[in-house]
Amino acid sequence: MGQPVASWLAGYDPKDLTIATAVSHSSLQIFHGAKLEGFKTLAIAAGDRDVRYYDAFPKAKPDRILKLNRYHDLLGMAEELREENVILIPHGSLVEYLGPDNYVNIGLPIYGNRNVLHWESDRDAQRTWLEAAGIRMPRKISDPQDINEPAIVKYHGAKGGRGFFIAKSYRDFKRHIQEGEPYTIQEFVLGTRYYLHYFHSPLVKEGYQVELKDAAGKVVATSTLQMLSIDRRDESNIDEMNRLGSLKDMDEIGIPPTFVVTGNIPMVIRESLLPEVFRMGEQVVKEAHKLFGGLWGPFCLETVVTDKLEFRVFEISARIVAGTNPFVGGSPYSEMIAPGLSTGRRIAQEIKLAAQTGQLAKILT
Ligand code: ATP
Repeated sequence: MGQPVASWLAGYDPKDLTIATAVSHSSLQIFHGAKLEGFKTLAIAAGDRDVRYYDAFPKAKPDRILKLNRYHDLLGMAEELREENVILIPHGSLVEYLGPDNYVNIGLPIYGNRNVLHWESDRDAQRTWLEAAGIRMPRKISDPQDINEPAIVKYHGAKGGRGFFIAKSYRDFKRHIQEGEPYTIQEFVLGTRYYLHYFHSPLVKEGYQVELKDAAGKVVATSTLQMLSIDRRDESNIDEMNRLGSLKDMDEIGIPPTFVVTGNIPMVIRESLLPEVFRMGEQVVKEAHKLFGGLWGPFCLETVVTDKLEFRVFEISARIVAGTNPFVGGSPYSEMIAPGLSTGRRIAQEIKLAAQTGQLAKILT
């Protein structure tokens, strides 16, 4: 926290920036977008990670691949990388590989607000933020004995839905729970899942405008909000369970449902839901401004839409999500903003605009 970003940036050449991220997740998309906007690119790979797949995608292949023993080694190389005017683009895997403390303390300019991590990684803090923003979340069930309708049990620190389970009663809960593992329980919301990919810019003033206020309610800045694309995740094995029968059948033969993300499917939603999509995004960025100095760049609201056409948001991701990957060449929404606009490219455009107008310190932390 409190990194001397302004002094690092004083030594940067804004015409010769390098966009860097860790291999995997959405790195192809990030590099593809950065190259289209004329940036140098650097991939960071640790251990024995196989990076040959980049050879298969020449338009996204990074200019250089930095091979490390451990991602942790990046911390000791910050000064050297600052010589190359490196800007780090965070994605979920990068944060996971580095670990939250290393990530927050890394000595490189990061695109976005690095302090959002605290609000995002703790499910209770996330709920405080989203509910203060007027977002409806699945009901939290504090006592497992109160489970009397389908509930989803989420272990803390479980990644990508691994180990989650559905319980329809306290008995069910007792049968599945792993003792000693901290967890939270939420109402299981039945409906269709949509993962909404937003982009919030403090630099651009045209488009869907947002007024950011301070705690006293005074407008202190205006910004713009975009919604670039929507996906739905393909989750194994829950999404294919019906091939073998019902959830109950599976339970009887001892195969529990799992929620492990294996891919992403492009989606569009009913146009009549778009006002609510924008209202939710707007409220989230306004509240972030009040609570912790703002959320800008890409973020994603992970939602379920019920048959009453109401959204429930079960999670926020405060950076690029892998669900944007189907849209390297643009989405049905981003096409109405600019041709071929992916989230990766939008990030590069924002950094380019900031570099050209002397505003890098506004978007890097
Ligand atoms: P990631 O970090 O990859 O986003 P995670 O481990 O934080 O995943 P969640 O995103 O909270 O897990 O949930 C994983 C999946 O479980 C969701 O994609 C969704 O399919 C399902 N899910 C989560 N919460 C609910 C809910 N309240 N009702 C119905 N389904 C849910």
